Amino acid sequence: MSAYTDDEIARRQIRVGELAMLRMTKAQIAKQLGVSFSLVRSDCEAMELNIPDGIHRKPVRTAPVTQHGTITGYAAHYKRQEQPCEECKQARREYLAQRKAS
Ligand SMILES: [Zn+2]
Repeated sequence: MSAYTDDEIARRQIRVGELAMLRMTKAQIAKQLGVSFSLVRSDCEAMELNIPDGIHRKPVRTAPVTQHGTITGYAAHYKRQEQPCEECKQARREYLAQRKAS
């Protein structure tokens, strides 16, 4: 299945290793060597090189606010830098009132 000879693979793996030393990511190495990302990844696995993928996935936002009406929900809104909903604001008011009371 592979179109590469053992010699080519060995040489490529050496290059991958060298570039990894330069703190390049797998994506950068793939681009540099003109090979596919998955090839670099399998080379890294073969050489037990643990380097970052360097693939820019969509930034993962914090989990959606699921616990509305609780202080956890309020904190989740805050973390997401969004305006807390009424339920959560109410929960926070109660929370603060409770804290003051105790
Ligand atoms: Zn809420």
